[in-house]
Amino acid sequence: MESFDVIVAGLGAMGSAAADHLARRGARVLGIDPWQPPHDAGSSGGETRLIRKAYFEHPDYVPLLARAYDNWADLEAETGDRVLYRTGTVYVGDPAGELIRGSRLAADTHGLPLLELDDPGLAELHPFLRRPEGYAALFEPDAGLLLCERAVAAQLRRAAAHGATLRYGERVLGFDRAGGPGGVEVSIGGRRVRAGALVITAGSWAPALLASLGLSLRVTRQPLFWIPAPAGFELGTVPCWAVQRPEAPGLFYGFPALPAAFGGHAGIKLAHHHPGEAADPDAPRSAATAAELTVLLRAVAPFLPALNGPALASKVCLYTSTADGHFVIDRHPEHPGVVFGCGFSGHGFKFASVVGEALADLALEGRSALPIGFLGLR
Ligand SMILES: Cc1cc2nc3c(=O)[nH]c(=O)nc-3n(C[C@H](O)[C@H](O)[C@H](O)COP(=O)(O)OP(=O)(O)OC[C@H]3O[C@@H](n4cnc5c(N)ncnc54)[C@H](O)[C@@H]3O)c2cc1C
Repeated sequence: MESFDVIVAGLGAMGSAAADHLARRGARVLGIDPWQPPHDAGSSGGETRLIRKAYFEHPDYVPLLARAYDNWADLEAETGDRVLYRTGTVYVGDPAGELIRGSRLAADTHGLPLLELDDPGLAELHPFLRRPEGYAALFEPDAGLLLCERAVAAQLRRAAAHGATLRYGERVLGFDRAGGPGGVEVSIGGRRVRAGALVITAGSWAPALLASLGLSLRVTRQPLFWIPAPAGFELGTVPCWAVQRPEAPGLFYGFPALPAAFGGHAGIKLAHHHPGEAADPDAPRSAATAAELTVLLRAVAPFLPALNGPALASKVCLYTSTADGHFVIDRHPEHPGVVFGCGFSGHGFKFASVVGEALADLALEGRSALPIGFLGLR
C-alpha cells in the first residue's frame, strides 16, 4: 500500500496552504483534489478577497491575522508572486451596527490603526463613496485585497517545489483507523493509501467527509458581479470599501478595478456578504441574475451613487457557514490522525496562510501554539 506522512484532502485556499506548510517542514505530503485548483467550483474563485485586521467579527481573530499577514509576505518573498495589495479599506455603517462597533473594538483591543473619517476626509480617500446622514466612516490603512487564484497557485507551486505530490482528478471518499499504532487509511477513488495523518480541507464538500461529527454547516450560493468602473476607480487610486445598512443583513463590499495586465475581468467587483440561498455543491449552479444585480445596486446607491450596471461578468461561489459564523479548526475526536478546517463562513480566505500553518501543527504535532482554541469543535 502506498504511504505518506500526511494526506491533504482538498487543495483550495486552506488545503494548498496546509500542503505548503507541511512540505516545507519536510513531511512527505500527498494532496488530492477532484478539480485542479485554483478553480471556480468551490469557495476560492473570483479574483479578489478582502483582507483586514480590525476584525469586527471578533477581536480574537486579530493575532491570527497578524500571523497571516506575515505568512502572505513570506509567500510573496519566496515565490516572487505579489498576492496582497494594501489598498486600505473604508467602512461605512450605522455607528451602533456590527461593522463599526466591532471594527473599533478590535482596533482598540489590539492597538490597530483605524481612522475616523469626516466628509472631507472621506472625499479625499474615496471620491465616489458617500456617508449618508447618521452613518460613521472609518479607514483601515492596513486592509486591502488578496488575489485569490494567484495565492492558491503560489501555495501549490511552493508545496510542489518542496516535494509535495499533488494529484488532481481524484477524490477522497473516506477514512479509517489504520491497523497498528496511530495513522489513518484513506480511501482515494478505488484505492487505499496509508498516512500518519489526514488533513480535511474540502470546503463545501467537508460536511460529507465529516458527517459523523454532526457539524451544523450550511452551504450557500453567493453571486459576484463586475460592473463598469467610473474613471478614477482603479487599483492604486481608491481603497476597497464595505458598507453596512441597519435594515439589510450582512455587508455590501467591493474592490477597485484591477489592471488589464492581471488578466481578470474588466470593471469593479461588488458583492453582498450575507447568509445566502442554500445550495448543493454537487448540483449544477444557477447563474447570477440581472435581478440580483439590481437589488445589489439599489442597496449600495446611497453610498456609491456613480455605480451602475449592466454586469460585465458574474460568477457564483459557495459559502460553507457554521451557525455562529466562526471557523472550525480541530482534531477529529474519534480519529486522532484526522484534523480538519471547515465552516469558513464567507470570511476565511485572508486566514488561509495561517490556517495552513495551524493544520500542519495539528497534523504533525497534535497541537498548535497558534491561538486557535476559540475555533475548536463546539
Ligand atoms: C463570493 C465569496 C466572497 C468571499 N469573500 C471573502 C473575502 O473578501 N475575504 C475573505 O477572507 N474570505 C472571503 N470569502 C471566503 C473564502 O473565500 C473561503 O472561506 C475560502 O475560500 C474557503 O477555502 P476552502 O479551502 O475551505 O474551500 P475551497 O477553496 O473551495 O477548497 C476546497 C477544495 O476541496 C476540494 N474537494 C472537494 N471534495 C473533495 C474530496 N472528496 N476530496 C478531496 N478534495 C475535495 C474542492 O475541489 C476544492 O478545491 C469569500 C467566499 C466567497 C464564495
